[in-house]
Amino acid sequence: MKTLQAVRGMNDILPADSALWQYFERTVADLLTGYGYQQIRLPIVEPTELFKRSIGEVTDIVEKEMYTFDDRNGDSLTLRPEGTAGCVRAMLQHGLLGSGVGQKVWYTGPMFRHERPQKGRYRQFHQVGVETFNLTGPDIDAELIALSWRLWQRLGISDAVKLELNSLGTSADRARYRDDLVTYLKARFEQLDEDSQRRLASNPLRILDSKNETTQALLVDAPKLADYLNDEARAHFTELRALLDAIGIPYQINPRLVRGLDYYGLTVFEWVTDQLGAQGTVCAGGRYDGLVEQLGGKAAPAVGFAMGIERLLLLIETLGKVPAELARQVDVYLVTLGEAAVTAGLRLAEQLRDRLPGLRLVVHAGGGSFKSQFKKADKSGALYALVLGENEVAEQQIGLKPLRTEEEQENLSWQDLPARLAQII
Ligand code: ATP
Ligand code: MG
Repeated sequence: MKTLQAVRGMNDILPADSALWQYFERTVADLLTGYGYQQIRLPIVEPTELFKRSIGEVTDIVEKEMYTFDDRNGDSLTLRPEGTAGCVRAMLQHGLLGSGVGQKVWYTGPMFRHERPQKGRYRQFHQVGVETFNLTGPDIDAELIALSWRLWQRLGISDAVKLELNSLGTSADRARYRDDLVTYLKARFEQLDEDSQRRLASNPLRILDSKNETTQALLVDAPKLADYLNDEARAHFTELRALLDAIGIPYQINPRLVRGLDYYGLTVFEWVTDQLGAQGTVCAGGRYDGLVEQLGGKAAPAVGFAMGIERLLLLIETLGKVPAELARQVDVYLVTLGEAAVTAGLRLAEQLRDRLPGLRLVVHAGGGSFKSQFKKADKSGALYALVLGENEVAEQQIGLKPLRTEEEQENLSWQDLPARLAQII
């Protein structure tokens, strides 16, 4: 029989890799807690309508990347392709935005997009998203950028990422700009790539983001969005830049940065690296003041971002920044020989866990000779083996054998063991 395979583009995270994931998740959770953000946990499946109304009908995601299906009632559901829409839906549904009080939340979990799988691009991938509501910025825009910057520092990757920044202005600014951009590009329609030709009618701003070289060349002399910003949008952007300068975060203005989702306005930003080939954006976000109202709520300003966990882990690995201590997951491995030793060993191990809750202790299971058990102890990465045979049980003693140095085995009484382990682990 053919063995079954996971769905293409959907990865297993194997035991050997999960320590790095846990380290990343711990680091993120600690950092966000330190900034006063609370976690929100959201369903993976949402009504399809939610994504159509928020992300926008003519975006890549909604047009061709969503996993959409009818459930048994005939309702159209979609595996979430991103987290912002569901987050806004939940905040509205539970009345968390109405009071006008500032809200700061974050989430993490799998997202689903039917894209061509390649390094750094998968069909099931994971994001950490951070969203704030009822805060008009630009102070909060700057905080979000500052906390992501601090995360890169804690992860040891800050030298390898650069911040790109732009302002999309207000929706009125974009409407005026869109008209002029369309006029300019219509006159050069034949030179545009096929995707951009299609987008000229549906979503012309996205053409700025085209990867096609001829299209990019055409855009050099096109009208610039920056010239269309009204005073307020311009002031928001100037203040944000001043705040970033004040906290010392370097950035580059990228006038073509538009983002793939329709709901953004004013601030947009991306953290990019040149270490991962084409999949260089590790974190992206911006302000979406219109989305809450668009989803049926009372208008509430909002700004947030999402980072791609797989890409960040690839970057950590590429840069050799995986913390050395992750390599060892076991402190002590207990080997036992004989029935009495198995019983005594289990009891002792439970007592050790009472006394030393942080101890990573593997109790050998499944019997076998001392020799084969020591092999497993060695392979586990443990620093010490605890050795319990019939003689030790009779004398209420235990052997403590260093596995990584040439030092001699010590013999201790059961009573002295916890204190001795507390000293060395
Ligand atoms: P890209 O331009 O790389 O397709 P995007 O603009 O579609 O990214 P967002 O929707 O802004 O991405 O998602 C935020 C982050 O999530 C991205 O910057 C990236 O790090 C990550 N991400 C997005 N799509 C994928 C994917 N298919 N596989 C892995 N990570 C992804
Ligand atoms: Mg994409």
